Amino acid sequence: MAKSGVLGYPRIGENREWKKALEDHWAGKLDEQELDLQLTGIRLQHLRKIKESGADFIPVGDFSYYDHVLDTAVMFGIVPKRFASYQGGAVSRAIYYGMARGTKDATACEMTKWFNTNYHYIVPELEGAEPQLTENKPLLAYREAKAELGIEGRPVLLGPLTFLKLSKGYAEQGLDAWLDRLLPLYAQIVQELEREGVQWVQLDEPILVTKTDEADVQRLHKICAALTAAAPGLKLLLQTYFESAEAYSALIELPVHGIGLDFVHGLEGNLAAVREYGFPADKVLGAGVIDGRGIWKAALLDKKALLDELSAFVQPEQLIAQTSCSLLHVPVSLQKETGLAPELHAALAFADEKLAELALLTRALGGDGETDAELAAYDEAVQALNRSASRSRQDIRTAAAAIAAQEPQRNKPFAERNAIQRAKWQLPLFPTTTIGSFPQSAEVRKARQLWRRGEWNAEQYNGFIREQIDRWVQIQEEIGIDVLVHGEFERTDMVEFFGEKLAGFVFTKNGWVQSYGSRCVKPPIIYGDVAFEGPMTVEETRYAQSLTQRPVKGMLTGPITIMNWSFVREDISREQIAYQLAYALRQEVEALEAAGIGMIQVDEPAVREGLPLKASKQANYLEWAVRAFRLATCTVRDETQIHTHMCYCEFHDMIDSIDAMDADVISIETSRSHGELIGSFEVNTYGKGIGLGVYDIHSPRVPELNEMTGMIDRALAALAPELFWINPDCGLKTRGYQETVASLQRMVEAAHLAREKYKQVLV
Ligand code: GLN
Ligand code: ZN
Repeated sequence: MAKSGVLGYPRIGENREWKKALEDHWAGKLDEQELDLQLTGIRLQHLRKIKESGADFIPVGDFSYYDHVLDTAVMFGIVPKRFASYQGGAVSRAIYYGMARGTKDATACEMTKWFNTNYHYIVPELEGAEPQLTENKPLLAYREAKAELGIEGRPVLLGPLTFLKLSKGYAEQGLDAWLDRLLPLYAQIVQELEREGVQWVQLDEPILVTKTDEADVQRLHKICAALTAAAPGLKLLLQTYFESAEAYSALIELPVHGIGLDFVHGLEGNLAAVREYGFPADKVLGAGVIDGRGIWKAALLDKKALLDELSAFVQPEQLIAQTSCSLLHVPVSLQKETGLAPELHAALAFADEKLAELALLTRALGGDGETDAELAAYDEAVQALNRSASRSRQDIRTAAAAIAAQEPQRNKPFAERNAIQRAKWQLPLFPTTTIGSFPQSAEVRKARQLWRRGEWNAEQYNGFIREQIDRWVQIQEEIGIDVLVHGEFERTDMVEFFGEKLAGFVFTKNGWVQSYGSRCVKPPIIYGDVAFEGPMTVEETRYAQSLTQRPVKGMLTGPITIMNWSFVREDISREQIAYQLAYALRQEVEALEAAGIGMIQVDEPAVREGLPLKASKQANYLEWAVRAFRLATCTVRDETQIHTHMCYCEFHDMIDSIDAMDADVISIETSRSHGELIGSFEVNTYGKGIGLGVYDIHSPRVPELNEMTGMIDRALAALAPELFWINPDCGLKTRGYQETVASLQRMVEAAHLAREKYKQVLV
């Protein structure tokens, strides 16, 4: 009888109780004990569900108070020196959350994408750290699950190679020295686990799906050897996910008891490797067949066929049917989704439904086909949806194909457009602007609720939005910002807002997933062909422009970001979906321009996260992503200035693609990576308008003037002053009123100082 395994489960709870508890704690409304109590309740509820689903391998230790990478750093006492109160030993909650979010005295640690997902982890800073084992977190989790629920859990441990490679603060040659320092700590963890009676440990090494060279293989040998020597009675499952494992033939030689592979997102590569090299008889194969990232029901007959093929290489009792990765990336449960069309609802599976799916599949394995009818019935739901009219609108297919066939190009090259735009806009040196959103105050959220509940009519709500725009246009003018925005008060979320106005999207009531820390997002579902149905942003933008002489930037979310932050259909390619979106957005860009808006920002913060993990697949993705952006923006007049914005990621390895997007101005988040991005402009010159964020907006802290002038000076050492803009790192919607105004005042002051300082250089 084959076994089943789950690699991890969402943390946020059925109703985002987790988020609420964290935020109440930060607001001082929930003390540490209360927080512990509430989070323990949530954690145990999750474990109970997994247990009840019948899964054989239940993850423990994957739960977090913020982020699992931060947990690992803190478990090893790796705390940056700027958190001066840390004296070694257990890390206090205050420092833990300080590292995540910043404090009055110390900036937060950098945050970045977890591989190619929309989950963000806190980047460990190794420099100057003295690693020690401050607590054995997986052990505590194992004990708890056993004592409270009688669960024999499989502790999840972020492996040392991935942990180190995702960290910063060491030179390349320092990696091995760091490995030597961490390995004894890992050894101690597994030793204590073994002593406690733990049978299996899930050692997550997702880094193994990215480039794995000979040195890495040596490191893995060292890691596995050290851990098995420390705990010979413990079984290690070396777990990979998100793509096919590199160096497969070397991995299967490692001294571990099991290898976990992703047969959803790495299907092609992993299956080819198994076919070519086989699988060792002495190891367990964790076969990730249930998608931990998508929301559609699995085609179980296909999954069963796949597992049947794999079982030819493995002893039946050595095969574990698993989720492809942690279920962290999908919403918790479909239970509350009462508003969806039945044919759509029937085709979906969130985390809890995936648990059931895994159980059904496992039950079918090894049987003599008596469950095949059940599997076929299960599979019928997605097939029925595929046949539905919403999935193939011929008008859209034809139009999108027609525009995709033309080369998307602005009328004139940048240099010529730039001269025309300069003459038209007459902006000062280093124009100041913001990224789009202003604080979504309690008042704004309240108004939206009243309107959504029907207690306000559209007129009342629109009136309220107008008042907000009035107020913030005035504030921006008073502060002295050069290019204004309307503030995005009518939007909860930059993707949801557009999805609600375009055809082809559907929204869940409760389909939240964690994005970073307590921040959750509710990705829309692109289930059908995408179509423009009428102007989406024109009214508010035009209204804002009517209030001021200064230019107001129109504000749109780009095709790739909308796609990457949605759950998408799987019956057509992502490229096709992107072009449908681009075609729809082009119509909005044109509508804004026709309404007299002369600067239009098309945000693409998520371009980078869609980048395939395999180098061999990246160029193709970037090519069609850039093409989609250009399709959306290329039809405007020369004097119309196209802006774009990017954040959350490291962009230094895709500057060429950013350039190819051909936006007139780009603003990029910079300060969370402490200016590292700037360095890349020293080697790759960038010849279009650019604003490198001069302060971090993820923290309520008001930056000092010299921090901003420092960022500006560094940037101007690499970039042309006449193309340089001054702006914050990202939108300000999560910030409060006072810190926003104070920070922007300082930013404008920094711009004035810079103008004084650099004007001589320029003449
Ligand atoms: N225009 C958006 C805002 O300011 C951009 C947000 C983002 O980049 N994530 O909120
Ligand atoms: Zn941003």
